[in-house]
Amino acid sequence: MYYSQMKSLSEKGLEVWFLTGSQPLYGADILAQVADQSKQVVATLNAASELPIKATWKPVLTTPEDIKALCLEASANPNCIGVITWMHTFSPAKMWIGGLNALQVPILHLNTQANSELPWESIDMDFMNLNQAAHGDREHGHVQARLHLPRKVVAGHVSDKKVSTRIAHWMRAAIGWNTAQNLKLARFGDNMRFVAVTDGDKTSAQITLGMSIEAYGVNALVDAVAAVDSAALDKLVAEYEQIFEVSAELKKGGARHDSLRYQASLEIALEEFLTAGNFTAFTTNFEDLGALKQLPGLAVQRMMSKGYGFGGEGDWKTSALLRIIKSMTEGLPGGTSFMEDYTYHFGPGEPKVLGAHMLEVCPTITNQKPKCEIHPLGIGGKDDPVRLVFNATPAHGRVVGLMDLGDRFRIVSNDIEVVKPDKELKKLPVACAVWKPAPSLATSAESWIYAGGSHHTVLSTALDPEVLSDFANIAQVEHLRISASTTSEEFHKEIKWNGAFYKLSSLT
Ligand code: MN
Repeated sequence: MYYSQMKSLSEKGLEVWFLTGSQPLYGADILAQVADQSKQVVATLNAASELPIKATWKPVLTTPEDIKALCLEASANPNCIGVITWMHTFSPAKMWIGGLNALQVPILHLNTQANSELPWESIDMDFMNLNQAAHGDREHGHVQARLHLPRKVVAGHVSDKKVSTRIAHWMRAAIGWNTAQNLKLARFGDNMRFVAVTDGDKTSAQITLGMSIEAYGVNALVDAVAAVDSAALDKLVAEYEQIFEVSAELKKGGARHDSLRYQASLEIALEEFLTAGNFTAFTTNFEDLGALKQLPGLAVQRMMSKGYGFGGEGDWKTSALLRIIKSMTEGLPGGTSFMEDYTYHFGPGEPKVLGAHMLEVCPTITNQKPKCEIHPLGIGGKDDPVRLVFNATPAHGRVVGLMDLGDRFRIVSNDIEVVKPDKELKKLPVACAVWKPAPSLATSAESWIYAGGSHHTVLSTALDPEVLSDFANIAQVEHLRISASTTSEEFHKEIKWNGAFYKLSSLT
Protein backbone atom coordinates (compact mmCIF):
# COMPACT_ATOMS: atom_id res chain seq x y z
CA MET A 1 0.00 0.00 0.00
CA TYR A 2 1.54 3.25 -1.09
CA TYR A 3 -0.39 5.85 0.77
CA SER A 4 -3.15 5.85 3.33
CA GLN A 5 -4.14 8.40 5.91
CA MET A 6 -7.17 6.72 7.44
CA LYS A 7 -7.82 7.32 11.10
CA SER A 8 -7.21 4.17 13.13
CA LEU A 9 -10.17 2.28 14.57
CA SER A 10 -8.77 2.19 18.08
CA GLU A 11 -8.88 6.00 18.11
CA LYS A 12 -12.60 5.79 17.49
CA GLY A 13 -13.09 3.55 20.55
CA LEU A 14 -15.21 0.91 18.84
CA GLU A 15 -15.82 -2.37 20.70
CA VAL A 16 -18.09 -5.39 20.84
CA TRP A 17 -19.66 -6.57 24.07
CA PHE A 18 -19.29 -10.13 25.29
CA LEU A 19 -22.47 -11.44 26.94
CA THR A 20 -22.34 -14.61 29.01
CA GLY A 21 -25.61 -16.39 29.70
CA SER A 22 -26.55 -18.47 32.74
CA GLN A 23 -29.44 -18.66 35.24
CA PRO A 24 -29.92 -18.20 39.04
CA LEU A 25 -30.42 -21.96 39.72
CA TYR A 26 -26.69 -22.64 39.99
CA GLY A 27 -26.04 -20.51 43.05
CA ALA A 28 -23.44 -17.86 43.79
CA ASP A 29 -20.37 -20.14 43.87
CA ILE A 30 -20.96 -21.61 40.46
CA LEU A 31 -21.89 -18.22 38.98
CA ALA A 32 -18.62 -16.78 40.30
CA GLN A 33 -16.75 -19.57 38.48
CA VAL A 34 -18.79 -18.87 35.34
CA ALA A 35 -17.77 -15.21 35.56
CA ASP A 36 -14.08 -16.06 36.05
CA GLN A 37 -14.05 -18.48 33.17
CA SER A 38 -15.88 -16.14 30.79
CA LYS A 39 -13.39 -13.37 31.67
CA GLN A 40 -10.63 -15.82 30.73
CA VAL A 41 -12.36 -16.63 27.44
CA VAL A 42 -12.55 -12.90 26.61
CA ALA A 43 -8.87 -12.41 27.56
CA THR A 44 -7.82 -15.30 25.32
CA LEU A 45 -9.90 -13.92 22.48
CA ASN A 46 -8.53 -10.38 22.90
CA ALA A 47 -4.98 -11.73 22.77
CA ALA A 48 -5.56 -12.80 19.14
CA SER A 49 -3.62 -10.32 17.00
CA GLU A 50 -6.03 -10.45 14.06
CA LEU A 51 -8.87 -8.86 16.04
CA PRO A 52 -9.42 -5.30 14.73
CA ILE A 53 -11.15 -4.21 17.96
CA LYS A 54 -11.58 -5.63 21.45
CA ALA A 55 -14.37 -7.59 23.07
CA THR A 56 -15.52 -6.08 26.37
CA TRP A 57 -16.59 -8.50 29.10
CA LYS A 58 -19.96 -7.85 30.72
CA PRO A 59 -21.30 -9.38 33.98
CA VAL A 60 -22.97 -12.80 33.66
CA LEU A 61 -26.65 -12.56 32.73
CA THR A 62 -29.17 -14.64 34.67
CA THR A 63 -32.55 -12.91 34.36
CA PRO A 64 -34.78 -11.67 31.51
CA GLU A 65 -34.70 -8.16 33.00
CA ASP A 66 -30.91 -7.97 33.05
CA ILE A 67 -30.66 -9.43 29.55
CA LYS A 68 -33.07 -6.90 28.10
CA ALA A 69 -31.43 -4.00 29.94
CA LEU A 70 -28.00 -4.94 28.58
CA CYS A 71 -29.29 -5.47 25.02
CA LEU A 72 -30.89 -1.99 25.13
CA GLU A 73 -27.68 -0.50 26.53
CA ALA A 74 -25.59 -2.19 23.81
CA SER A 75 -27.93 -0.83 21.14
CA ALA A 76 -27.80 2.72 22.54
CA ASN A 77 -24.05 2.93 23.10
CA PRO A 78 -22.40 4.43 19.97
CA ASN A 79 -19.11 2.62 20.66
CA CYS A 80 -20.72 -0.80 20.92
CA ILE A 81 -21.03 -2.09 17.35
CA GLY A 82 -22.03 -5.68 18.09
CA VAL A 83 -22.49 -8.34 20.74
CA ILE A 84 -21.08 -11.84 21.16
CA THR A 85 -23.26 -14.24 23.14
CA TRP A 86 -22.05 -17.41 24.86
CA MET A 87 -24.14 -19.67 27.08
CA HIS A 88 -21.50 -20.97 29.49
CA THR A 89 -24.17 -22.86 31.42
CA PHE A 90 -27.81 -23.51 30.61
CA SER A 91 -29.60 -20.19 30.14
CA PRO A 92 -33.26 -20.97 29.31
CA ALA A 93 -33.74 -19.15 26.04
CA LYS A 94 -37.19 -17.68 26.64
CA MET A 95 -35.31 -15.36 29.01
CA TRP A 96 -33.51 -13.96 25.94
CA ILE A 97 -36.49 -13.24 23.66
CA GLY A 98 -37.19 -9.75 25.02
CA GLY A 99 -33.54 -8.74 24.90
CA LEU A 100 -32.80 -10.18 21.47
CA ASN A 101 -35.93 -8.53 20.06
CA ALA A 102 -34.67 -5.19 21.39
CA LEU A 103 -31.13 -5.67 20.09
CA GLN A 104 -30.17 -3.22 17.31
CA VAL A 105 -26.55 -4.27 16.70
CA PRO A 106 -25.06 -7.32 14.91
CA ILE A 107 -24.81 -10.53 16.90
CA LEU A 108 -22.34 -13.40 16.87
CA HIS A 109 -23.23 -16.55 18.76
CA LEU A 110 -20.06 -18.20 20.03
CA ASN A 111 -20.39 -21.86 20.93
CA THR A 112 -17.29 -22.42 23.01
CA GLN A 113 -16.15 -23.86 26.33
CA ALA A 114 -13.65 -22.69 28.95
CA ASN A 115 -11.53 -25.83 28.69
CA SER A 116 -10.41 -27.26 25.39
CA GLU A 117 -9.64 -30.75 26.60
CA LEU A 118 -12.14 -32.93 28.41
CA PRO A 119 -10.61 -34.10 31.74
CA TRP A 120 -11.33 -37.74 30.96
CA GLU A 121 -10.01 -39.25 34.18
CA SER A 122 -11.17 -36.62 36.67
CA ILE A 123 -14.49 -35.59 35.21
CA ASP A 124 -17.32 -35.62 37.73
CA MET A 125 -20.79 -34.07 38.05
CA ASP A 126 -19.36 -30.76 39.30
CA PHE A 127 -17.47 -30.40 36.04
CA MET A 128 -20.55 -31.47 34.07
CA ASN A 129 -22.70 -28.88 35.88
CA LEU A 130 -20.26 -26.08 35.18
CA ASN A 131 -19.48 -26.75 31.51
CA GLN A 132 -22.81 -26.91 29.71
CA ALA A 133 -22.28 -24.83 26.56
CA ALA A 134 -22.63 -27.95 24.40
CA HIS A 135 -26.35 -27.94 25.16
CA GLY A 136 -26.75 -24.41 26.58
CA ASP A 137 -25.74 -22.88 23.25
CA ARG A 138 -28.16 -25.14 21.38
CA GLU A 139 -31.05 -23.86 23.48
CA HIS A 140 -29.84 -20.32 22.74
CA GLY A 141 -29.48 -21.04 19.02
CA HIS A 142 -33.06 -22.33 18.91
CA VAL A 143 -34.45 -18.98 19.95
CA GLN A 144 -32.12 -17.03 17.64
CA ALA A 145 -33.37 -19.22 14.78
CA ARG A 146 -37.00 -18.68 15.83
CA LEU A 147 -36.40 -14.90 15.85
CA HIS A 148 -34.78 -15.06 12.38
CA LEU A 149 -31.80 -13.09 13.66
CA PRO A 150 -29.20 -12.45 10.95
CA ARG A 151 -26.52 -13.90 13.23
CA LYS A 152 -23.17 -15.55 12.74
CA VAL A 153 -22.55 -18.81 14.59
CA VAL A 154 -18.94 -19.76 15.39
CA ALA A 155 -18.09 -22.99 17.21
CA GLY A 156 -14.73 -23.98 18.66
CA HIS A 157 -12.21 -23.12 21.36
CA VAL A 158 -11.19 -19.45 21.45
CA SER A 159 -7.49 -20.34 21.47
CA ASP A 160 -7.99 -21.87 17.99
CA LYS A 161 -6.79 -19.46 15.30
CA LYS A 162 -9.65 -20.53 13.02
CA VAL A 163 -12.14 -19.39 15.66
CA SER A 164 -10.51 -16.04 16.40
CA THR A 165 -10.09 -15.37 12.67
CA ARG A 166 -13.77 -15.99 12.01
CA ILE A 167 -14.67 -13.69 14.91
CA ALA A 168 -12.23 -11.06 13.58
CA HIS A 169 -13.95 -11.25 10.19
CA TRP A 170 -17.34 -10.71 11.79
CA MET A 171 -15.93 -7.77 13.80
CA ARG A 172 -14.77 -6.20 10.53
CA ALA A 173 -18.24 -6.77 9.03
CA ALA A 174 -19.77 -5.12 12.11
CA ILE A 175 -17.41 -2.18 11.59
CA GLY A 176 -18.69 -1.97 8.00
CA TRP A 177 -22.27 -2.05 9.23
CA ASN A 178 -21.52 0.72 11.73
CA THR A 179 -19.94 2.71 8.90
CA ALA A 180 -22.99 2.19 6.67
CA GLN A 181 -25.36 3.19 9.46
CA ASN A 182 -23.53 6.49 10.00
CA LEU A 183 -22.50 7.17 6.40
CA LYS A 184 -23.27 10.54 4.86
CA LEU A 185 -22.56 10.89 1.15
CA ALA A 186 -22.44 14.14 -0.84
CA ARG A 187 -23.35 13.95 -4.51
CA PHE A 188 -22.05 16.79 -6.65
CA GLY A 189 -24.68 16.71 -9.35
CA ASP A 190 -26.87 13.75 -10.31
CA ASN A 191 -25.85 10.51 -11.98
CA MET A 192 -24.82 10.37 -15.63
CA ARG A 193 -27.71 10.84 -18.02
CA PHE A 194 -29.38 7.65 -19.34
CA VAL A 195 -27.21 5.32 -17.22
CA ALA A 196 -29.25 2.60 -15.48
CA VAL A 197 -27.02 0.92 -12.93
CA THR A 198 -25.70 4.09 -11.28
CA ASP A 199 -29.27 5.17 -10.55
CA GLY A 200 -31.32 3.81 -7.68
CA ASP A 201 -33.62 4.44 -4.77
CA LYS A 202 -31.81 6.49 -2.14
CA THR A 203 -34.63 6.15 0.37
CA SER A 204 -34.42 2.35 0.08
CA ALA A 205 -30.66 2.59 0.55
CA GLN A 206 -31.18 4.47 3.79
CA ILE A 207 -33.83 2.03 5.02
CA THR A 208 -31.67 -1.01 4.14
CA LEU A 209 -28.18 0.26 4.97
CA GLY A 210 -28.65 3.43 7.00
CA MET A 211 -26.66 5.65 4.64
CA SER A 212 -27.81 9.19 3.91
CA ILE A 213 -27.30 10.16 0.24
CA GLU A 214 -27.62 13.91 -0.30
CA ALA A 215 -27.28 16.06 -3.44
CA TYR A 216 -25.46 19.38 -3.84
CA GLY A 217 -25.23 21.61 -6.86
CA VAL A 218 -21.69 21.62 -8.21
CA ASN A 219 -21.63 25.35 -7.43
CA ALA A 220 -21.12 24.41 -3.77
CA LEU A 221 -17.79 22.92 -4.81
CA VAL A 222 -16.98 25.80 -7.18
CA ASP A 223 -17.42 28.23 -4.28
CA ALA A 224 -15.26 26.09 -2.00
CA VAL A 225 -12.49 26.01 -4.63
CA ALA A 226 -12.58 29.80 -4.93
CA ALA A 227 -12.17 30.13 -1.16
CA VAL A 228 -9.00 28.00 -0.93
CA ASP A 229 -6.15 29.74 0.84
CA SER A 230 -3.00 30.14 -1.28
CA ALA A 231 -0.64 29.24 1.59
CA ALA A 232 -2.46 25.93 2.00
CA LEU A 233 -2.08 25.41 -1.76
CA ASP A 234 1.67 26.05 -1.62
CA LYS A 235 2.01 23.50 1.14
CA LEU A 236 -0.01 20.81 -0.63
CA VAL A 237 1.76 21.26 -3.96
CA ALA A 238 5.11 20.91 -2.16
CA GLU A 239 3.81 17.68 -0.58
CA TYR A 240 2.88 16.34 -4.04
CA GLU A 241 6.40 17.02 -5.30
CA GLN A 242 7.79 15.04 -2.36
CA ILE A 243 5.60 11.95 -2.50
CA PHE A 244 4.84 11.63 -6.23
CA GLU A 245 6.97 11.60 -9.32
CA VAL A 246 5.62 14.90 -10.64
CA SER A 247 6.27 15.57 -14.35
CA ALA A 248 8.56 18.51 -15.16
CA GLU A 249 5.80 20.61 -16.73
CA LEU A 250 3.70 20.36 -13.56
CA LYS A 251 6.46 21.17 -11.10
CA LYS A 252 6.94 24.60 -9.59
CA GLY A 253 8.34 26.75 -12.38
CA GLY A 254 7.01 24.33 -15.05
CA ALA A 255 4.79 25.53 -17.91
CA ARG A 256 1.66 23.82 -16.53
CA HIS A 257 2.22 24.22 -12.81
CA ASP A 258 -1.04 26.16 -12.50
CA SER A 259 -2.93 23.01 -13.55
CA LEU A 260 -1.40 21.13 -10.62
CA ARG A 261 -2.30 23.98 -8.29
CA TYR A 262 -5.86 23.81 -9.55
CA GLN A 263 -6.16 20.09 -8.68
CA ALA A 264 -4.65 20.89 -5.29
CA SER A 265 -7.36 23.50 -4.75
CA LEU A 266 -9.94 20.85 -5.67
CA GLU A 267 -8.51 18.50 -3.04
CA ILE A 268 -8.52 21.16 -0.33
CA ALA A 269 -12.03 22.31 -1.24
CA LEU A 270 -13.39 18.76 -1.31
CA GLU A 271 -11.84 17.90 2.04
CA GLU A 272 -13.06 21.07 3.70
CA PHE A 273 -16.57 20.69 2.31
CA LEU A 274 -16.83 17.02 3.27
CA THR A 275 -15.32 17.53 6.73
CA ALA A 276 -17.65 20.43 7.48
CA GLY A 277 -20.70 18.33 6.56
CA ASN A 278 -19.40 15.14 8.21
CA PHE A 279 -19.45 13.38 4.82
CA THR A 280 -17.22 10.33 4.28
CA ALA A 281 -18.11 9.63 0.65
CA PHE A 282 -18.93 11.62 -2.47
CA THR A 283 -19.57 11.48 -6.19
CA THR A 284 -18.79 13.69 -9.17
CA ASN A 285 -20.17 13.69 -12.70
CA PHE A 286 -18.14 14.84 -15.71
CA GLU A 287 -21.40 15.99 -17.33
CA ASP A 288 -22.02 18.46 -14.55
CA LEU A 289 -18.86 20.37 -13.68
CA GLY A 290 -20.28 23.90 -13.85
CA ALA A 291 -17.46 26.41 -13.53
CA LEU A 292 -14.89 23.83 -12.38
CA LYS A 293 -11.92 24.04 -14.73
CA GLN A 294 -10.87 20.38 -14.54
CA LEU A 295 -12.57 17.10 -13.75
CA PRO A 296 -11.34 16.20 -10.25
CA GLY A 297 -8.69 13.51 -10.86
CA LEU A 298 -5.66 13.71 -8.60
CA ALA A 299 -7.95 15.35 -6.00
CA VAL A 300 -10.30 12.35 -6.02
CA GLN A 301 -7.40 9.89 -5.93
CA ARG A 302 -6.00 11.65 -2.88
CA MET A 303 -9.39 11.69 -1.14
CA MET A 304 -9.83 7.94 -1.73
CA SER A 305 -6.38 7.33 -0.26
CA LYS A 306 -7.54 9.17 2.86
CA GLY A 307 -10.40 6.70 3.23
CA TYR A 308 -13.23 8.55 1.50
CA GLY A 309 -15.69 6.68 -0.68
CA PHE A 310 -15.95 7.80 -4.30
CA GLY A 311 -17.98 6.90 -7.38
CA GLY A 312 -17.63 8.41 -10.84
CA GLU A 313 -20.59 9.55 -12.95
CA GLY A 314 -22.70 10.10 -9.85
CA ASP A 315 -22.41 6.47 -8.76
CA TRP A 316 -23.36 6.87 -5.10
CA LYS A 317 -23.81 3.12 -4.45
CA THR A 318 -20.24 2.29 -5.45
CA SER A 319 -18.99 5.32 -3.53
CA ALA A 320 -20.76 4.18 -0.36
CA LEU A 321 -19.55 0.61 -0.86
CA LEU A 322 -15.98 1.86 -1.26
CA ARG A 323 -16.17 3.74 2.04
CA ILE A 324 -17.69 0.70 3.77
CA ILE A 325 -15.00 -1.66 2.42
CA LYS A 326 -12.22 0.78 3.33
CA SER A 327 -13.53 0.82 6.90
CA MET A 328 -13.77 -3.00 7.02
CA THR A 329 -10.19 -3.47 5.78
CA GLU A 330 -8.50 -0.75 7.79
CA GLY A 331 -5.00 -1.69 8.96
CA LEU A 332 -4.75 -4.72 6.67
CA PRO A 333 -2.15 -5.16 3.91
CA GLY A 334 -3.43 -4.29 0.44
CA GLY A 335 -5.63 -1.48 -0.77
CA THR A 336 -9.10 -0.63 -2.00
CA SER A 337 -10.17 1.50 -4.99
CA PHE A 338 -13.01 2.58 -7.21
CA MET A 339 -12.72 0.50 -10.37
CA GLU A 340 -14.36 -0.24 -13.71
CA ASP A 341 -13.98 -3.29 -15.94
CA TYR A 342 -12.64 -1.33 -18.85
CA THR A 343 -11.37 -3.59 -21.60
CA TYR A 344 -10.49 -7.28 -22.20
CA HIS A 345 -7.48 -9.33 -23.18
CA PHE A 346 -9.00 -12.59 -24.52
CA GLY A 347 -5.58 -13.93 -25.57
CA PRO A 348 -3.01 -15.04 -26.50
CA GLY A 349 -2.14 -16.40 -23.08
CA GLU A 350 -4.48 -16.26 -20.14
CA PRO A 351 -7.52 -14.00 -20.55
CA LYS A 352 -7.48 -10.88 -18.38
CA VAL A 353 -9.41 -7.72 -17.61
CA LEU A 354 -7.84 -4.29 -17.73
CA GLY A 355 -9.59 -2.16 -15.16
CA ALA A 356 -9.28 1.61 -14.92
CA HIS A 357 -11.41 4.73 -15.03
CA MET A 358 -11.20 8.12 -16.66
CA LEU A 359 -8.84 9.18 -13.85
CA GLU A 360 -10.08 8.05 -10.48
CA VAL A 361 -8.15 5.01 -9.24
CA CYS A 362 -6.94 4.96 -5.62
CA PRO A 363 -3.16 4.72 -5.07
CA THR A 364 -3.62 2.40 -2.07
CA ILE A 365 -3.64 -0.52 -4.55
CA THR A 366 -0.05 0.05 -5.68
CA ASN A 367 3.39 -0.17 -4.15
CA GLN A 368 4.79 2.01 -6.94
CA LYS A 369 5.54 5.67 -6.48
CA PRO A 370 2.73 7.15 -8.59
CA LYS A 371 3.55 9.48 -11.44
CA CYS A 372 1.67 12.77 -11.41
CA GLU A 373 0.90 13.77 -14.99
CA ILE A 374 -1.38 15.89 -17.14
CA HIS A 375 -3.07 14.62 -20.31
CA PRO A 376 -6.12 15.54 -22.35
CA LEU A 377 -9.50 14.01 -21.50
CA GLY A 378 -11.79 13.39 -24.46
CA ILE A 379 -15.05 14.02 -22.61
CA GLY A 380 -16.34 16.72 -20.31
CA GLY A 381 -15.15 19.69 -22.37
CA LYS A 382 -12.87 21.05 -19.64
CA ASP A 383 -9.14 21.73 -19.24
CA ASP A 384 -6.75 18.79 -19.21
CA PRO A 385 -6.98 17.15 -15.78
CA VAL A 386 -4.02 16.25 -13.58
CA ARG A 387 -3.98 12.62 -12.41
CA LEU A 388 -1.84 9.95 -10.76
CA VAL A 389 -0.64 7.16 -13.06
CA PHE A 390 0.43 3.72 -11.77
CA ASN A 391 -0.26 0.00 -12.08
CA ALA A 392 -1.92 -1.98 -9.28
CA THR A 393 0.48 -4.30 -7.45
CA PRO A 394 -0.10 -8.05 -8.03
CA ALA A 395 -2.14 -9.62 -5.21
CA HIS A 396 -5.17 -11.78 -4.55
CA GLY A 397 -8.29 -9.66 -4.31
CA ARG A 398 -11.88 -9.22 -5.33
CA VAL A 399 -14.13 -6.82 -7.15
CA VAL A 400 -17.47 -6.02 -5.54
CA GLY A 401 -20.59 -4.36 -6.95
CA LEU A 402 -23.74 -3.10 -5.24
CA MET A 403 -26.89 -2.88 -7.31
CA ASP A 404 -30.45 -1.67 -6.80
CA LEU A 405 -32.72 -4.29 -8.40
CA GLY A 406 -35.83 -2.15 -7.97
CA ASP A 407 -37.31 -4.12 -5.09
CA ARG A 408 -34.10 -4.83 -3.15
CA PHE A 409 -30.31 -4.55 -3.23
CA ARG A 410 -27.80 -7.15 -4.43
CA ILE A 411 -24.06 -7.48 -3.87
CA VAL A 412 -22.01 -9.39 -6.45
CA SER A 413 -18.35 -10.20 -5.92
CA ASN A 414 -15.68 -11.94 -7.94
CA ASP A 415 -12.44 -13.40 -6.65
CA ILE A 416 -9.60 -12.06 -8.78
CA GLU A 417 -5.84 -12.16 -9.01
CA VAL A 418 -4.25 -8.82 -9.82
CA VAL A 419 -1.30 -9.53 -12.13
CA LYS A 420 1.39 -7.63 -13.95
CA PRO A 421 0.36 -6.39 -17.41
CA ASP A 422 1.69 -8.71 -20.15
CA LYS A 423 3.64 -5.78 -21.58
CA GLU A 424 4.45 -2.28 -20.44
CA LEU A 425 1.49 0.09 -20.91
CA LYS A 426 3.66 2.90 -22.25
CA LYS A 427 0.88 5.06 -23.66
CA LEU A 428 -1.85 4.53 -21.07
CA PRO A 429 -2.30 7.91 -19.35
CA VAL A 430 -4.31 6.62 -16.37
CA ALA A 431 -3.82 4.33 -13.38
CA CYS A 432 -4.96 0.77 -13.97
CA ALA A 433 -5.23 -2.75 -12.61
CA VAL A 434 -4.90 -5.93 -14.66
CA TRP A 435 -6.47 -9.07 -13.25
CA LYS A 436 -7.42 -12.66 -13.93
CA PRO A 437 -10.98 -13.23 -12.69
CA ALA A 438 -11.90 -16.59 -11.14
CA PRO A 439 -12.76 -19.14 -12.33
CA SER A 440 -12.09 -17.80 -15.86
CA LEU A 441 -12.79 -14.59 -17.71
CA ALA A 442 -15.67 -16.20 -19.62
CA THR A 443 -17.44 -17.73 -16.60
CA SER A 444 -16.81 -14.64 -14.49
CA ALA A 445 -18.20 -12.28 -17.12
CA GLU A 446 -21.19 -14.50 -17.92
CA SER A 447 -22.07 -14.87 -14.25
CA TRP A 448 -21.60 -11.18 -13.50
CA ILE A 449 -23.81 -10.25 -16.46
CA TYR A 450 -26.50 -12.81 -15.49
CA ALA A 451 -26.52 -11.17 -12.04
CA GLY A 452 -27.05 -7.71 -13.53
CA GLY A 453 -23.74 -6.70 -11.93
CA SER A 454 -22.52 -3.13 -12.26
CA HIS A 455 -19.67 -1.99 -14.51
CA HIS A 456 -18.35 0.10 -11.63
CA THR A 457 -16.93 -1.88 -8.74
CA VAL A 458 -14.81 -1.64 -5.65
CA LEU A 459 -11.53 -3.48 -6.14
CA SER A 460 -9.90 -4.58 -2.91
CA THR A 461 -6.74 -6.55 -2.26
CA ALA A 462 -7.42 -6.36 1.48
CA LEU A 463 -10.96 -7.73 1.82
CA ASP A 464 -11.50 -11.33 2.95
CA PRO A 465 -14.56 -12.95 1.34
CA GLU A 466 -15.89 -13.97 4.76
CA VAL A 467 -15.95 -10.31 5.85
CA LEU A 468 -18.05 -9.45 2.82
CA SER A 469 -20.41 -12.40 3.37
CA ASP A 470 -20.79 -11.48 7.05
CA PHE A 471 -21.54 -7.88 6.09
CA ALA A 472 -24.20 -8.98 3.58
CA ASN A 473 -25.70 -11.25 6.24
CA ILE A 474 -25.88 -8.44 8.80
CA ALA A 475 -27.41 -6.12 6.21
CA GLN A 476 -29.70 -8.92 4.96
CA VAL A 477 -28.67 -8.11 1.42
CA GLU A 478 -28.13 -10.88 -1.13
CA HIS A 479 -24.48 -11.67 -1.88
CA LEU A 480 -23.61 -13.63 -5.00
CA ARG A 481 -19.94 -14.66 -5.06
CA ILE A 482 -18.17 -15.73 -8.23
CA SER A 483 -15.22 -17.89 -7.16
CA ALA A 484 -12.95 -20.69 -8.37
CA SER A 485 -15.79 -23.21 -7.94
CA THR A 486 -18.42 -21.21 -9.88
CA THR A 487 -20.01 -22.55 -13.06
CA SER A 488 -22.25 -20.34 -15.19
CA GLU A 489 -25.01 -22.94 -15.09
CA GLU A 490 -25.12 -23.30 -11.29
CA PHE A 491 -24.68 -19.56 -10.77
CA HIS A 492 -27.61 -18.83 -13.05
CA LYS A 493 -29.71 -21.24 -10.97
CA GLU A 494 -28.56 -19.60 -7.71
CA ILE A 495 -29.81 -16.26 -9.01
CA LYS A 496 -33.22 -17.79 -9.75
CA TRP A 497 -33.46 -19.62 -6.39
CA ASN A 498 -32.46 -16.48 -4.54
CA GLY A 499 -35.10 -14.55 -6.49
CA ALA A 500 -37.74 -17.00 -5.22
CA PHE A 501 -36.39 -16.75 -1.65
CA TYR A 502 -36.48 -12.97 -1.60
CA LYS A 503 -40.00 -12.92 -3.04
CA LEU A 504 -41.24 -15.44 -0.47
CA SER A 505 -39.41 -14.02 2.52
CA SER A 506 -40.00 -10.66 4.15
CA LEU A 507 -36.67 -9.44 2.78
CA THR A 508 -38.10 -8.07 -0.49
MN1 MN B 1 -17.45 4.98 -15.20
